[in-house]
Amino acid sequence: MGIFGGTFDPVHYGHLRTAFEMRQALRLTELRFVPCYEPPHRGNTYASAELRLKMVREAIIGQPRFSVDDRELLHEGPSYSFDTLMAFRSEFPERSLALIIGMDAFLGLPRWYRWSEILQLAHIVIAHRPGWRSPDSGRLGELLVACGTHRIDDIHEAKSGKLYIHDVTQLEISSTEIRELIAAGRDPKFLTPDAVRDVIKASGCYTDGDDEKVGAQYAQKDIS
Ligand code: ATP
Repeated sequence: MGIFGGTFDPVHYGHLRTAFEMRQALRLTELRFVPCYEPPHRGNTYASAELRLKMVREAIIGQPRFSVDDRELLHEGPSYSFDTLMAFRSEFPERSLALIIGMDAFLGLPRWYRWSEILQLAHIVIAHRPGWRSPDSGRLGELLVACGTHRIDDIHEAKSGKLYIHDVTQLEISSTEIRELIAAGRDPKFLTPDAVRDVIKASGCYTDGDDEKVGAQYAQKDIS
């Protein structure tokens, strides 16, 4: 099973294409998007947990092997990936679990809570992301030497413990860029599915809270 965590604020084609290619390449029977709780420290122009969940749900309609897992949103406060993976592991004791992350996220791994124990719970599958290089030294470089594999079968033969880097189609899309575009009154068409655009448009999220004109402009002029 693939576990793809993120803020998904909003979900976009960079996430979706990565998930799609990873699922196919790794022959995953199931891939779960796990939106994380986001504390309201970033200001009220970002989407609520409920809305982020809704956008992911809309984005994956019709993809039978994709699903959304809302466990991190069900309680107030942040969830650590370690705890989430512990929960997955106790729910699926016999299954191979693969945590899917972008290279940027992987480079920040040593800052995660109990990061060095994560490989005891799951594999980590890393998607190349534009602008980010694989570490060849330091703790992550050493980890790659110790646990890295190029064999997809290794992901299936063991339940956890491997690091695998996979080249995905490089789509230089980020949620930040989409939020900025919308705040500027522009349309994120072709960066995120139309169903997600519809949710954004209906909710008015990502428009600058004080500037209703920007939102109206996006809604009326850019979205057709
Ligand atoms: P933000 O711009 O708000 O930081 P983001 O676009 O990086 O958001 P996240 O929800 O933070 O999106 O990302 C979730 C996961 O998806 C992370 O592991 C990240 O590395 C990966 N990811 C995001 N965008 C891409 C992309 N364009 N290609 C490949 N992986 C991506």
